[in-house]
Amino acid sequence: MSVPAEPSFRDSVDLMFNRAVALMDLEPGLEEKIRVCNATYTVRFGVRLRGGIHTFTGYRSVHSEHMEPVKGGIRYATGVHQDEVEALAALMTYKCALVETPFGGSKGGLCLDPREYSEEELERITRRFTYELAKRDLINPSQNVPAPDMGTGEREMAWIADQYQRMNTTDINARACVTGKPAHAGGIQGRVEATGRGVQYALREFFRHPEDVKAARLSGSLHGKRIIVQGLGNVGYHAAKFLAEEDGAKIVGIVERDGAITSESGLDVEAVHGWIGRHGGVKGFADGTFVEDGAKVLEEDCDVLIPAALEGVINRDNVSRIRARMIVEAANGPITAAADEVLRKAGTVVIPDLYANAGGVTVSYFEWVKNLSHIRFGRMQRRQEEARHELLINELERLSRDKELGWTLSPGFKEKYLRGADELELVRSGLDDTMRTAYQAMRKVWHSREDVADLRTAAYLVAIERVSASYRAKGL
Ligand code: GLU
Repeated sequence: MSVPAEPSFRDSVDLMFNRAVALMDLEPGLEEKIRVCNATYTVRFGVRLRGGIHTFTGYRSVHSEHMEPVKGGIRYATGVHQDEVEALAALMTYKCALVETPFGGSKGGLCLDPREYSEEELERITRRFTYELAKRDLINPSQNVPAPDMGTGEREMAWIADQYQRMNTTDINARACVTGKPAHAGGIQGRVEATGRGVQYALREFFRHPEDVKAARLSGSLHGKRIIVQGLGNVGYHAAKFLAEEDGAKIVGIVERDGAITSESGLDVEAVHGWIGRHGGVKGFADGTFVEDGAKVLEEDCDVLIPAALEGVINRDNVSRIRARMIVEAANGPITAAADEVLRKAGTVVIPDLYANAGGVTVSYFEWVKNLSHIRFGRMQRRQEEARHELLINELERLSRDKELGWTLSPGFKEKYLRGADELELVRSGLDDTMRTAYQAMRKVWHSREDVADLRTAAYLVAIERVSASYRAKGL
């Protein structure tokens, strides 16, 4: 099979966009307006470290402001560059539209390897980067709200929030300037696990539709499905853990930086994760077979392949050897446009990134709303609901006591019933609902249009339709 030439990440996203837009009837010019990146800011700043001045290069790209604030993570990695940040910002626009979080798309990055710096150094670098972005409104609760991405997490978000608050002491909403903060610094329960949790909910929803399962040449449920995960970082770890522990899937391979580990009987995700934490890689992990050339494991036979690390890992070089029945893009852009063509022709089902990894931004939205409302989820409603439920339960208790009913309430029922949902339960149920609704919107387009052969094109169609409706409504 001839494989098309490999485009850059940015071009890859545009090619996927173009594929969908060709099937739409958009007003001339609007298509171009949506596709292009509005602006990318590059900053070079110096930080005094280890007795000398070190210069760092960072980016914040804003893809579309059809809704504000714009939203998207900040990545710390040595390979960060403008093309990548712009591609990721564009994906954020489409992702937010697909899962109906009311944001435009943005993304940022800093060229550095966080493992080369101490915590104190990272804090100084992060605060300085925050200062540079915030003074240009590229961090701002109503303009631009960053979040974690590769190489960053709760710790960095707490520094960003604190730095922004110091610069804006009278802004009562300052905390909402960034999401993914720790719980004690204005964060929300369930944000750390959110992207992995979203991958799990996406797969659960997929397996609720036998027609779709059949399209992937699979049958039955998630139980016992053989899964290979690439990257056991925050996203891959949570996805693999939940799928194995709660859905009975078998993680038969984990691909990491230093190689891969495989086991036909299923890997203990928690144990592998702990091992990586202590040893920096999978090598030496006893309950599995170590494969030095990890990339080879991506090509092994499995039911579901979950790339959860970098972009471009399934590309024109290896795509013809990929044997997975379906691929879930937990990472952003793991399949290049060239590889996507080949997979589509081969009938491999791809659950696209803009849907599969949208759990992170969905829960970020909940956090942002929580910060702006200045109240813990459920705190006000609980009293009201409890009062109503208590009336009902008391009446039931009376009826059962007076033997007017042929049954009695089981012990502890009242307490359980009245407890209500806590924040984590509310976040998870909101995320589940979001993932179900978005999947159903995509699959409707996939199955109802003869010219739509795959979920990715369907996802772009839904997203672009929403972005264009929003531009039309507000004017350019
Ligand atoms: N970095 C994540 C993503 O790529 C999360 C973005 C956010 O929560 O704003 O979707």
